Order: sequence, then structure tokens, then C-alpha cells
Amino acid sequence: MSYVESVLNSVVEKNPGEPEFHQAVKEVLESLSPVFERHAKYEEQRILERITEPERVIMFRVPWVDDKGGIRVNKGYRIEFNSAIGPYKGGLRFHPSVNLGVLKFLGFEQLFKNSLTTLPMGGGKGGSDFDPKGKSNNEVMHFCQSFMTELYRHIGPVTDVPAGDIGVGGREIGYLFGQYKRLKNEFTGVLTGKALAWGGSLIRPEATGYGSVYFAQEMLAAQGQSFEGKTCLVSGSGNVSQYTVEKLLHLGAKPVSLSDSNGTIYDPDGITGEKLQWVLELKNIRRGRISEYQAKFPGSIFIAGQRPWAIPCDCAFPSATQNEINGADASELVKNGCKLISEGANMPSDPDAVNIFLDNKILYGPGKAANAGGVATSGLEMSQNAQFLSWSSEEVDAKLKNIMKSIHRNSYNTAAEYGCPGNYVVGANIAGFLKVANAMIDQGIV
Ligand code: NDP
Repeated sequence: MSYVESVLNSVVEKNPGEPEFHQAVKEVLESLSPVFERHAKYEEQRILERITEPERVIMFRVPWVDDKGGIRVNKGYRIEFNSAIGPYKGGLRFHPSVNLGVLKFLGFEQLFKNSLTTLPMGGGKGGSDFDPKGKSNNEVMHFCQSFMTELYRHIGPVTDVPAGDIGVGGREIGYLFGQYKRLKNEFTGVLTGKALAWGGSLIRPEATGYGSVYFAQEMLAAQGQSFEGKTCLVSGSGNVSQYTVEKLLHLGAKPVSLSDSNGTIYDPDGITGEKLQWVLELKNIRRGRISEYQAKFPGSIFIAGQRPWAIPCDCAFPSATQNEINGADASELVKNGCKLISEGANMPSDPDAVNIFLDNKILYGPGKAANAGGVATSGLEMSQNAQFLSWSSEEVDAKLKNIMKSIHRNSYNTAAEYGCPGNYVVGANIAGFLKVANAMIDQGIV
């Protein structure tokens, strides 16, 4: 049995009932095999056994009182996965599907992603099974305050710096930051994704979506192509999806879909800047459902209960959640002419889908490379906070673009160096791994 196989078996055995974590570990470890064939030191140092075990897992009770005076209890988590190259860094997710295995998969992905950004950030992830949908602002605030009342003792600007993720946007970051400041009596950069007036960075809200499009732009450029006139599918309608659509429009592409957990809207005329502004208001202020788009914009249709993948396109940007593209969806995309996938979401393609994309030589940008722009800009927010200054949006956007170019170049070159040209999965996993693994060796058995 190979080193990779034996570690995979042991991860499954030691972490029962965590299928998403198993899936993420398997995808990364299998693509690392060429590294162990060339370098014995990683096996000698038992790096895979160490890197698949989080440094620390924190789980806690989050009690809070709803608007009717009822007592509610949710689970709270923070996975401090790996701090070899910097403080733990990664988002908080508030969604009913959150459990230990989901957060371990996200934390594991995060450590490779953060390594790829070129910035000094370790990997972490956290969250709760709390569902902000349908809750009043008051309830969300009470929940966030209770969550932070426990979390604050484990985090800090040089220890662990959380950010947003699904269900955690500007509103939630505000309430979390307010409670941290009150408890610690410190105004520090302990969270990223803050509002501009109190330590946030310009372009942070846009960064994940913009970054995913910049990464795709680099994949196209490597083939001598551009976005001009390309029809693009986008799934989700939250933070990442909104700014993916915006950047696609800047670059001359035609985005035609958005979705949420109730279904997909398809607008054959294209989602214009004006229509996007309406979606931002719908989702970020009124907190409504994407189905309302159909009544507002005649010519569009709402496809209830479906994801966008059966709509013909040139490029697809899965930007909602994990495992939202299965093998059948991937085959449909390829059959209908899709030539590029850039993953705004984390692990949106299941293993069958990934194999179909790779077998068909689709330009496939895996999430840990394609959506790294969000955390990279969080890193830039940390730098600004540490220096008590703020950069202009042009400066931040230029840095983001450079980081995405560098992630693309690093993934592309590493894939070629290890005998898999054009395979960004192999390239991103190996490039992300080597930096963390070498740092772990330098720092001894800790
Ligand atoms: P938001 O909460 O802003 O939006 C999430 C969107 O995805 C919503 O439209 C939501 O629909 C939909 N969605 C969520 N869960 C499901 C589900 N189980 N089935 C169908 N639709 C679903 O989150 P973000 O935009 O921030 O995050 C989206 C993805 O991008 C996630 O995978 C996240 O990990 C990843 N990501 C985010 C980063 C960031 O900076 N925000 C950074 C890097 C990655 P509904 O409202 O109906 O739930």
C-alpha cells in the first residue's frame, strides 16, 4: 500500500461520519503522489499524518433568546487547522448544514489556499448550525453576541483572524466585532470583512468574485482567449456570485444565470449592470428570494428546484456551495459546449464531476486557487489594520489581480513541473502543500 493510501485509510477510520472531510483529503492527497515519489523527507517526517489532523478543534454551546422570549441553543465551532505559515485564517459559516466534518473540510482546503496566496496566513474555519434566514436583525445580533462571548478567548489579531462565509456577511461581522471589542476592550483587526468606516478594506466585498473571474481570465489568456462575448453561468446569488457577475460584465462577458436554494433564474438577454443592482438590493437589503427576478425582468425564467448546469454556456462559475455539480451535471455542461469552470465556491464539483472536467480537458480552476482572492484581500485588510492606514480601491484591486496572476502562474508551472501540464488541481495542491510542509519541517515536531 502506498503512503498516500495508508494515510487516506487512517483518516477515514479516525474521522467517522465526516464524508466532506474525507472527500477533501482524498482529492488533495491523491494529487500529491508525485511529490512523495520524488522526495522521501515528507513521508519520513510523517507530514501527511500531521497535516490532516487539525492543531486544535474548539466546540461550544451558543445559547440565545429569540424575539418571542424563547430560549434557543446552537452549536459553535472553530477549527484551528494549521499555523505553520501564519495565524489561523478562514471564514465563519452560519448555515443549518454546518457540522464538524463540513468545517474540517473547509479548514483543510483553506490551509492550501492560504499558502497559494503568497501571504503569511495559516488555515482555519468555523461557524454554527444557526440559520440567519428568516431571523430578525435583533435575533441575529443576539446570536452573534453569544457566539463571540465564547469565541473571543480563542482568537486574536496574531492568533486567529476569522472572516465571513455563507450566512456571514457585513451585518454579522459588525455584530461579532462589536462584541469582541466590548469583551476585550481592544480595537484590533481580529476579523476581516469589516465595514470601511471601522477598519475594513476597499474591494474586500468584491474580492472573491472578482478573483475567481481574474483566475479564469488567466486560464483563458494562457490559451490566447478572452471573455469577450462569452456566455457564462453563475450559481448562487450571495456575495461571491454578485461580484462574479459584476466582473464578468466589466470584461465583456454575458452572465445569464443566478440561483439560490429554491431554484435558478435564466435570463437569455443577459444580467446587465442595472439588473445586478436590483439583485444586490434584493439579496443584501430586502433579503428576498431570487425567484422574484422573473416578475421584475420579463424574458427571464425561474426554474424551480434546479441548478443552472443544463443551460448552454461557454464558462461556468459555481459560487453557491459544496457538491453543487455532480457527474451528470458535468457531462451536461461539457455536452453543451462549456469550456471553462472557475470555482467561486469551495469544493462545488464532486469527484465524478472533477474527473469529467479533467478527462475532457476543460479549463478547470479548483476553488482553492480560483476563489483565493477573498482570503488574499482579507490578508491585505490585516496589513492595512496593522499599519493603521487604508489603501485606495485601485491599489487593492491591483494587488488582488497580481495575486490571482501569481496563483495561476504558480499552479500552471507546478503542474507542468510534476508531469501534468494544464492540470490546475495537481498544480494548486502541490504548490500549496510544499510551502506548508517545508515550514512544518523547519519548525520541528509541534
Ligand atoms: P452567501 O451566504 O453570501 O451566499 C450563498 C449563496 O449560495 C446563496 O445564494 C445561497 O442560497 C446559496 N446556497 C447556500 N447553500 C446552498 C445549498 N445548500 N443549496 C443551494 N444553494 C445554496 O455566501 P458566499 O457567497 O460568501 O459563499 C458562497 C461560496 O463561496 C461558499 O462555498 C463559500 O465557502 C465560498 N467562498 C466564499 C468566500 C467569501 O469571501 N465570501 C471566500 C471563498 C470562498 P440561499 O440564500 O437560498 O441559502
